[in-house]
Amino acid sequence: MATLLLLPGDGIGPEVCAEVRRVAAVLTPDLTVKEKIYGGVSYDAHGTPLTDDTLNAALGADAVLMGAVGGPQWADAPRDKRPEAGLLALRKAMNVYANLRPAYCFEALADASSLKSELVSGLDLIFVRELVGGVYFGQPRGIEDLGDGQKRGFDTQTYTTAEIERAGRVAFELARGRRNKVHSAEKSNVMESGLLWKQVITDLHKREYADVELEHILADNCAMQLVRAPKQFDVIVTDNLFGDILSDAAAMLTGSLGMLPSAALGDPGKPGLYEPIHGSAPDIAGKGLANPLAAILSFEMALRWSLNRTAEADRLTAAVNAALNGGARTRDLGGALTTAQMGDAVLAAL
Ligand code: NAD
Repeated sequence: MATLLLLPGDGIGPEVCAEVRRVAAVLTPDLTVKEKIYGGVSYDAHGTPLTDDTLNAALGADAVLMGAVGGPQWADAPRDKRPEAGLLALRKAMNVYANLRPAYCFEALADASSLKSELVSGLDLIFVRELVGGVYFGQPRGIEDLGDGQKRGFDTQTYTTAEIERAGRVAFELARGRRNKVHSAEKSNVMESGLLWKQVITDLHKREYADVELEHILADNCAMQLVRAPKQFDVIVTDNLFGDILSDAAAMLTGSLGMLPSAALGDPGKPGLYEPIHGSAPDIAGKGLANPLAAILSFEMALRWSLNRTAEADRLTAAVNAALNGGARTRDLGGALTTAQMGDAVLAAL
């Protein structure tokens, strides 16, 4: 029987994960849902944000759904023991190299966008961001003393053929199930790693995915096009750094942070890591004000990408749509529903 591991974590994490539990109980009663300690609460209890017990449970599950980690109370924890370090360690250990971040506009929320509603109405694009390589992990890195009162900070942007190919493959496969179009974003005009990125994607396309439409786009132009005419995009594949920035901008086109799910996938057959893109929201934690839809939609992605339950995923998307069309709104969406009441609205629609 399939297992979903919940890692509620810190702040609003436990509140939004509680709603995922309720939805799972109704939608997929045969799914085994387990829970483990993780993040700042784990540091307090065990001196580490990611215990071996939690890591082993994650590696043995079919899908892992995380709430959020972090908060001001752990600001002074040693750098390698901070909740956020536990998150990077989990991603690395699970080898989830492709980060899928959709920007999807729910019709009922088209007016909540910072762009004109006609620009975002019907928007449905998805980023594939390379997640475990590039400048966030490249060596050497550091801050060195130049001895004359000056210092030099440096990082290394590095990609291998294999790292680019596996991210590209995820993007082309995704596109085949969507509108069959991939944009590959890099800075091949000024970066060697960007040039290699472009060559590898071009070769992979020619060799295995000639049926998919491919367009190369410079990352700066991609930023501009995302706010000018975002509906031209279907799948965008890009590196860790550009993906971090561009996907945040794209995600916000669709409204609140409380609406946005994500998935991190590794090799086929390995568990995926699913998480709302928001943080632990210490300002509203414990007050029942958090919007649980980002977490619930992360569960929807887990059903689709790791648990092979497409029909249930479709039912859940429809239920969220119906709840929003019926006027269900938490405070971040301009309404007054509590976290549990938003969960009730989704359950009623289910
Ligand atoms: P945040 O995402 O926690 O909050 C930003 C703002 O959005 C806050 O005003 C918050 O109230 C609001 N918000 C976030 N999620 C919401 C939801 N579901 N419903 C309604 N409102 C919501 O970002 P932050 O304040 O910059 O970071 C707080 C902590 O979270 C920090 O410790 C940070 O390191 C951590 N963080 C963790 C993750 C993660 O776990 N993946 C991601 C980002 C930040």
